[in-house]
Amino acid sequence: VTAAPTFDRLALIGVGLIGSSIAHAARRHRLVGEIVATARTAATRARVVELELADRVVETNAEAVRDADLVIVCIPVGACGPVAQEIGPHLRPGAIVSDVGSVKGAVVRDMAPYLPANVHFVPAHPVAGTEHSGPDSGFAELFINRWCILTPPPGADPAAVERLAAFWRALGAKVDTMSPEHHDLVLAVTSHLPHLIAYTIVGTANELGEVTESEVLQFSAGGFRDFTRIAASDPTMWRDVFLANKDAVLEMLGTFQEDLAKLTRAIRRGDGEALYEHFARTRAIRRGIVSIGQDSAAPDFGRPHPTLPETPMPRPYASGEE
Ligand code: NAP
Repeated sequence: VTAAPTFDRLALIGVGLIGSSIAHAARRHRLVGEIVATARTAATRARVVELELADRVVETNAEAVRDADLVIVCIPVGACGPVAQEIGPHLRPGAIVSDVGSVKGAVVRDMAPYLPANVHFVPAHPVAGTEHSGPDSGFAELFINRWCILTPPPGADPAAVERLAAFWRALGAKVDTMSPEHHDLVLAVTSHLPHLIAYTIVGTANELGEVTESEVLQFSAGGFRDFTRIAASDPTMWRDVFLANKDAVLEMLGTFQEDLAKLTRAIRRGDGEALYEHFARTRAIRRGIVSIGQDSAAPDFGRPHPTLPETPMPRPYASGEE
């Protein structure tokens, strides 16, 4: 068992769901000597102070990275370029600079030109999240048993990559490495497309004239409710994801539309065999996801349920009782 890696000073730029979860987990596992944090608005910085998520909260990105040996940028992907430009001249030589963006190609393209040659740039994406955002939403267990994908550029120092990988493993994650382009293609189908479908379907249901809004809410137990959870995800983050991963998402959307057309045709023709074959195949995929421990097979996704109220059952057939 290797000892958990330690960094003297972790700088967090952006303290939302991901940044605050890193802070909680790094503290719990004593991975860093000190956390220095900053956020864009004074309101968030004040909240980070109240929640005691960092040892120091500073006003500027430049100030945050000073003397840090690990810098993690935890902001929407569209904002990463200007932040890299701002912090570039203030980074400590030898520091590891990383991010958590859900898109990798655009982040590498936007950040790399501004980072000096004497730091190690190792982009990362923890594939873990919830539909909540902001500094209050983080928790130390977020990354446990989730994947964190590293996309080190060619020629990256293997020791720096391993140091960051060990940090993520210590937060509970499993680590994989791939190229930014491959990451973006994989995530387009596993994450970005499902979000786009959820955003679409919740909007569609909301605009239906013949089904009232109250009916949509009342009968949302089947399927739709889970789409509404995904469609509640942060609008800024997801706007940036689709703008930054345009090509891969459009490619996957093209394939999706072809498959949807096939199912549409099967329904129109009453081709039950085609529908059954397709649904049987997708059910096997779901079972595969559960069997590798990436989701729970508990009924209703393991949601807690209140116990039923203790109302006496009517006993229409009881006879001879008081
Ligand atoms: P979040 O909860 O909304 O927090 C975003 C943070 O970024 C806040 O501290 C915010 O500061 C700051 N910020 C926003 N716009 C900025 C700008 N233009 N310049 C500088 N800072 C800015 O977001 P999150 O969910 O933690 O997501 C952060 C990153 O993680 C994104 O790149 C996202 O793609 C990635 N990610 C998210 C998930 C997920 O499920 N949420 C999962 C994996 C990866 P203020 O509060 O002061 O505005």
